Amino acid sequence: MFPEYIVLHTAAFTGKNCDRDMIDQWHKARNWSGIGYHFVILNDQHDLKTDGEIEIGRLTNKAGAHALGLNSRSLGICCIGHGDKFDFTLAQYKSLYGLIEQLMTEFSIPLDKVIGHRELNELAKNNIISSRYRTSKSCPGSKIDMDAIRNTLSQSHSLVKDEKAEIDLQSKLAMNNAIATLQKYRGQFPNAQDELDEFINHPEIISMTR
Ligand SMILES: [Zn+2]
Repeated sequence: MFPEYIVLHTAAFTGKNCDRDMIDQWHKARNWSGIGYHFVILNDQHDLKTDGEIEIGRLTNKAGAHALGLNSRSLGICCIGHGDKFDFTLAQYKSLYGLIEQLMTEFSIPLDKVIGHRELNELAKNNIISSRYRTSKSCPGSKIDMDAIRNTLSQSHSLVKDEKAEIDLQSKLAMNNAIATLQKYRGQFPNAQDELDEFINHPEIISMTR
């Protein structure tokens, strides 16, 4: 699976000691293969574990079971607690922002594709998913302001990156090798040589491979 979206959820549970393993049990009881979320962020109601701790659920290369209609193209993050009753803890927000930023970078997910579960309805309205996947849930909870979350993320410095800094030395070498290969076999595509030269001599390519 290659995720295009990040979907945020609440566990919608006010009891103590809720964590990845507890949710795993819930979801197995539904005859799922195990926890449907890719990540779980704990709150301050666990006796042994730390507020804000991130636990791994389903592996990110496996489709989750958390957002019907979008499971095959999204990652699911569940914050422990009940978003209709309480806001996430500060530690949860801190971990959440760090995790989302990391996933946005790793999977090239844009900010407008960081959504709350209830916002599947927006996707249905815009025909991105079928209207049969509309949800009546308030998840991640009425206390959770998704616009505020996206706004905070948009102000994050770590998301504003110089794209050229992303190309590491190994990739530069690979690109140089690819261009060398194209030049070596330029005789094989006589009708595309001008375009090849244009490409190789484009300032962006030069600056990228230097
Ligand atoms: Zn949800």
